[in-house]
Amino acid sequence: MKSYVLGFPRIGEQRELKKALESYWKEQISLQQLEATAKELRTRHWNYQKDAGIDCISINDFSYYDIMLDTMFLLGAVPSRFKDIEDKTARYFAMARGDKTHTAMEMTKWLNSNYHYIVPELSESDELGLDISKIVSEYAEAKELGVQLKINLIGIISFLKLAKRVDVEKDTLKLFDKFLPLYVELVSELAKLDSEKVVIQFDEPSFVTSIGSEELSLLKIAYDKLGSVAENVKIVVATYFQHSVEATKVLVNTPISSLALDFVYGEKNMESLEAIANSDKKLLVGIVDGRNIWINDISKSLETLKKISEVVPRERMRIGTSSSLLHVPYTLKYEAKMDSEIKSWLSYAVEKLDEVNIINKLFFGLELSPQETDKLAENKKANHSRRTSTRVRDEAVRNRVANFQFEPRKSFEDRIVEQHKKFNYPPLATTTIGSFPQTAEVRKARRDFKAGNISEEKYIEFLREETKQTVQFQEKIGLDVLVHGEFERNDMVEYFGEQLNGFAFSQNGWVQSYGSRCVKPPHIYGDVSRPEPMTVEWIRYAQSLTEKPMKGMLTGPVTILAWSFVRDDQPRSETSRQIAFAIRDEISDLEQNGIEMIQVDEAAFKEGYPLRAEDIPTYENWAVQDFLVTTSGVKDTTQIHTHMCYSEFNDIIKTIEAMDADVISIETSRSGNELLKVFETVGYKQEVGPGVYDIHSPRVPSVEEMVTQIELLLEVLPERQLWINPDCGLKTRGWAEVEPSLKNMVEAVKVVREKRK
Ligand code: GLN
Ligand code: ZN
Repeated sequence: MKSYVLGFPRIGEQRELKKALESYWKEQISLQQLEATAKELRTRHWNYQKDAGIDCISINDFSYYDIMLDTMFLLGAVPSRFKDIEDKTARYFAMARGDKTHTAMEMTKWLNSNYHYIVPELSESDELGLDISKIVSEYAEAKELGVQLKINLIGIISFLKLAKRVDVEKDTLKLFDKFLPLYVELVSELAKLDSEKVVIQFDEPSFVTSIGSEELSLLKIAYDKLGSVAENVKIVVATYFQHSVEATKVLVNTPISSLALDFVYGEKNMESLEAIANSDKKLLVGIVDGRNIWINDISKSLETLKKISEVVPRERMRIGTSSSLLHVPYTLKYEAKMDSEIKSWLSYAVEKLDEVNIINKLFFGLELSPQETDKLAENKKANHSRRTSTRVRDEAVRNRVANFQFEPRKSFEDRIVEQHKKFNYPPLATTTIGSFPQTAEVRKARRDFKAGNISEEKYIEFLREETKQTVQFQEKIGLDVLVHGEFERNDMVEYFGEQLNGFAFSQNGWVQSYGSRCVKPPHIYGDVSRPEPMTVEWIRYAQSLTEKPMKGMLTGPVTILAWSFVRDDQPRSETSRQIAFAIRDEISDLEQNGIEMIQVDEAAFKEGYPLRAEDIPTYENWAVQDFLVTTSGVKDTTQIHTHMCYSEFNDIIKTIEAMDADVISIETSRSGNELLKVFETVGYKQEVGPGVYDIHSPRVPSVEEMVTQIELLLEVLPERQLWINPDCGLKTRGWAEVEPSLKNMVEAVKVVREKRK
């Protein structure tokens, strides 16, 4: 084996698996039909890899929903609350999505990617038991290909670390002794799959975050054991998205066979080369970017490989992707409408296979076929055009960023006095986060417009009517600060990306977000600027319908970055800064058009945090500065709002304060008021609306429970500092829930005000 990929996407290039799953859930197709689709996809994906000349091909990277969920099934780590479901398939999907009597398991992001996994719920009392049937049948299927196979599994430490406990004890690593015998049994069972060697890839990505000595000693125990279970088993331990130098130091002294390391996002892995060279381990060099869409710079990759080979013997090196290709779209072959120059700069999963193969051949001195020679020439040409194209570099943008003199706003304490005078909103002012229900009619109108079935005029008329009714509804129920509802937006990032220079969009660039859900992230390929106002017409129209303040609604640079494919030819912080200027211009236009409360959503601020603790100060520094650049150009009386999702803010509350927004709305309801403690102990300067109910659930919160919640808030924050709002946008909810929920919220504020008189 010389070349490898760490894993391949599974949803299908036409989202076949998504469609089959959703039909199955609606009982439109049978389980056999779903399985047939799955089998066809696996075969197709294996063949893509085989045909591209990849030497070692993964199995068990396929999943009907998620690999962590599959691992729970493999180990029998099924939460007891699902044990009453007899049927295996029904149980599997109930864990993933919930059913009439079971709430779904929690989902969270896979490290710093936009893929969500199902969080295992573990407890000491779980009765574990191995079920390797899925692997056995996939192995048999793939065996027919006649190539070296590699069985993908989640390693024991990462499985435990990325899980949560639902019994009293919180520490999942305490379950190590319970799980290790199962992993041992697993390896010894898998050893029987082949008369010759069996390759197992254990993903241990949690070793790329900052890690402690306890995990490292468990790592040693685990792989000492697993590496010596069976003669014919070769174990690869894979990490990705960052370096894992601490773990490598440990693993070189265990009986595993290989280490797969990320040399795209983990440059520091270079420091491990000596230790690897001094061991007998093979090094799988992740050199083709597994999570971004840009073409590989093949000559640069060869230089890196050469450097590595000066330390690690060439015979012990293998060439592959930095991570699973799960995080990129399938293939460029459907991108008929994409600009051909931009397209030449891109490489999706299928194209990356060719890159791995060509780099592998060049590095090991194998002869290229004529086709491969052509591809190499194309790659050179595209890299050159990407470096020099005027569509990538915009000198005006660069000069502006370079010559900008930052002037901070007047202090918050002074601004807020003027703002209160100007707007005169009451203490415990009520508002919402921005979006209102994206109903079936709204989505249908958008589809019809895009397909050319209704005219632009008709479409706009429809959106204006939706907006109008939403404004009237908010007035009627007595909210203090209103929003326009965001009906014209498909997505809070795409909407802006489509109107900014430097962004491109694919037609079919789908990436699995979770289960059957896919997203199509924008591609930021060049310097960003804003040719024209993006939101002014809509907000101005909405403001014309009411005397109450109407919030202008924008998305901030860090969030636009987090949910896009970002160019890799300059630091992310530079791209972010350019976006900051574009949004700054939008704010200025809104202000000139009489909009004087402006919300800049940084929903993804927390998820943008780096994996390694040592990188946090740098990130916080530029991310905060970008928010300040975005928002500092306004009058003292113009009120800047922001909104953030996710609840774990306790460690970063001072960073958020430094962003200096006048008002922040924030998610708290799911975290069981954890956040409130920090207001009490550390304090927070600006005004804040900790969400008083959870919009992620269809449940309508009662007046009483929101009164209780507001009173809890009032124990830690003075009423003048508090806003009352839901904890996120309402676009995924229906009006049937939104109407009574917001009415109850306003009513709850009335009750509290009355009680406090
Ligand atoms: N303004 C956006 C909305 O309400 C914010 C969404 C979000 O935080 N994800 O939809
Ligand atoms: Zn939110």
